[in-house]
Amino acid sequence: MYDAIVVGARCAGASTALLLARRGHRVLLVDRSSFPSDVISTHFIWPHGMSYLNRWGVLDQVTAVTPTHTTVDVVNDGIRLTGSVPVDLLREYFRDLHGDDSGVVQQYASVRRRVLDQILVEAAAKAGAEVRTNFNVRELVTEDGRVVGIRGRTADGQTVEDRARIVVGADGRNSFVARTLNLPKFDERPRCTFAYWSYWSGFDLGPGQIHRRGRLACAVVPTNFEQNMVLVWGPSEWSREFRADVPGNFQKALDFVSPELGAVVRDRGTREERIYGTLDQSGFLRPLYGPGWVLVGDAESAKDQCTAIGITHAFRDAELVTAALDRWLTGDTTVEEAMTGYEARRRSQNAAAYHDYVCTLAEMRPYRHDELQLFVALRGNQQETDRFIATHADVAPVSEFFQASNLFLLNDAAKETSADHAVFDDFAATSRTYQQNLFA
Ligand SMILES: Cc1cc2nc3c(=O)[nH]c(=O)nc-3n(C[C@H](O)[C@H](O)[C@H](O)COP(=O)(O)OP(=O)(O)OC[C@H]3O[C@@H](n4cnc5c(N)ncnc54)[C@H](O)[C@@H]3O)c2cc1C
Repeated sequence: MYDAIVVGARCAGASTALLLARRGHRVLLVDRSSFPSDVISTHFIWPHGMSYLNRWGVLDQVTAVTPTHTTVDVVNDGIRLTGSVPVDLLREYFRDLHGDDSGVVQQYASVRRRVLDQILVEAAAKAGAEVRTNFNVRELVTEDGRVVGIRGRTADGQTVEDRARIVVGADGRNSFVARTLNLPKFDERPRCTFAYWSYWSGFDLGPGQIHRRGRLACAVVPTNFEQNMVLVWGPSEWSREFRADVPGNFQKALDFVSPELGAVVRDRGTREERIYGTLDQSGFLRPLYGPGWVLVGDAESAKDQCTAIGITHAFRDAELVTAALDRWLTGDTTVEEAMTGYEARRRSQNAAAYHDYVCTLAEMRPYRHDELQLFVALRGNQQETDRFIATHADVAPVSEFFQASNLFLLNDAAKETSADHAVFDDFAATSRTYQQNLFA
């Protein structure tokens, strides 16, 4: 009998198993994959994600093989903002959510999942969790309406049953645990992005860059193996036409969103792998917990990749759920009270506002004139630029940045500075071209 069985051994599951095992609990961590391996995901990590890794003592292993940077470029319609999530806001984030601000770092990195997930799985095993890979969970064992274990199949075809006080579903957006329990999805957001990416060697552009023009976006970030991850995304309603010629349309999108980046990739880059892609990233929430089970990571809250936050949120969930389960498993509180506490943090007003922010951004509506003016105004104001980046990364509350007084203040400055930027020349005509599907 285990204290916890964790289904899914990547950023949500391996982290939860690692933290529970460190607190002395008996943990079984299972996954149908073997490691090292990738999963459908790019892998940009914001500073609070890196801070979690540091808090858990595994950051050095990541940075030993992965380039890091301390600023990021966000370029909207050619308007470049360079900044960093402020350290004081990072500290505040950890104090508010977890009660202590140890381990905060201001680094960004893009860590291949075959590197990151392997480090986490090994750390979980070292902490004492029993790790079983190539193990496909096929049934949940229930008694009197309560989940009490799992039944699954090993690589050589044997069926094995294991029991635990709690089963943690960390098995991703198509969660087997959630589907088996018939858990409903709510706050579903079908309008989302398609995303295609691959890995190029041959150039070094320094810190990560995120570009957006009209309804399309691209990003380039240095990653492992002396390569760059280059990613293109756009509205899912354009995906069918994009898919008709993936390599050609990939380059076409890059050239449109950032001609400079398009030229670097075309003229200096060597593509090292095939182009990966996904068409459906609709957002939704699921219930968090019930009798004998709890969900973490994408299983509980799936959202579009456009703000690159899923890995960091999976780490957040791992710390939150571990703190809650530990209180119950050590007899400090009832399971109901522990889970209510977990839910209060996960379903806070700020969490709801950020979910809405990501899902709205994922519709890939072109920026309005006043929104672009705001970005122009931010260029001269490093403090507000950093606060905007913190908001985008879910470190500072969305409501605090986009409050009316702030926008008016910035907008006054914007009126004086926007005249010198090409995007405002014939804005109405530009906006009309943005509505046309570039790949049709
Ligand atoms: C295109 C794309 C780009 C993204 N880019 C970023 C980014 O740049 N930065 C970022 O932070 N996030 C990004 N994300 C989001 C991120 O990938 C997810 O939020 C993250 O992977 C969720 O982690 P997880 O551990 O919850 O689930 P997953 O990583 O999906 O892991 C689930 C695991 O569960 C296992 N599993 C499932 N069912 C079973 C079963 N029945 N039995 C045994 N094992 C099972 C699977 O094998 C898998 O290993 C992106 C997502 C996509 C789709």
